[in-house]
Amino acid sequence: MQQRKAAQKIDVMDVSAYNELNSKLNEKNVNLVAVSKTKPVADIEALYNTGQRIFGENKVQEMCDKYEQLPHDIAWHMIGHLQRNKVKYIVPFVSLIHSVDSVRLLKEIDKQAAKADRKVNCLLQIHIAEEDTKFGLDANELEELLTSDAFAKMKHVQICGLMGMATNTDDEGQVKREFAGLKALFDKIKAEHFANNAAFKELSMGMSGDYEQAIEAGSTMVRIGSLLFGARNYA
Ligand SMILES: *Cc1c(COP(=O)(O)O)cnc(C)c1O
Repeated sequence: MQQRKAAQKIDVMDVSAYNELNSKLNEKNVNLVAVSKTKPVADIEALYNTGQRIFGENKVQEMCDKYEQLPHDIAWHMIGHLQRNKVKYIVPFVSLIHSVDSVRLLKEIDKQAAKADRKVNCLLQIHIAEEDTKFGLDANELEELLTSDAFAKMKHVQICGLMGMATNTDDEGQVKREFAGLKALFDKIKAEHFANNAAFKELSMGMSGDYEQAIEAGSTMVRIGSLLFGARNYA
């Protein structure tokens, strides 16, 4: 019998789940945001070493700390609620902000991006879930934002699409309806406001528990944490 190599590299996490998921998503041309919130830098490095370059965080401080410690070809996505007074810390390096939910926030991103001499990619977060704990715009507020004078003046933000989170429920029919509703809104907004804008193409929907339904419904970008990194411990 062959002996195991003594000096085998010990991986801090099992990347087989990643490889399996990644090939499934590649087949469908869906981007993977590996949601690394609460997870140590070593876990991110393990996925980075297998080729993953997009990581998602939901806290400004944590994202800045990890940005400093890790290779700079990582694309950092802000997926959590963002306070206006913290925008300035991430604007110099953030790759995509998924969680823009007001014109005031967008205005601050535009202002800080001008200072940093950047154009910052953003998604507008839409409220599709039943729970009112989840942030986001409704269809009317979205329309208001896109037709506002303030938005028309912004030169340093690029709207790349929409993001949404479905209700956390076992009712698959409800989740499907919510994703389908967001896809329909995406198509309508694309046609009415971004028809000649190739940058508006991303629909960020789907997490560990519902990404398959999200892809069925037309997601182009899934945000997956626990399926890759294991359950989070907030203790
Ligand atoms: C934490 C988080 C995710 C990932 O959740 P999992 O269920 O662990 O895949 C996705 N999107 C947002 C906005 C999150 O905060």
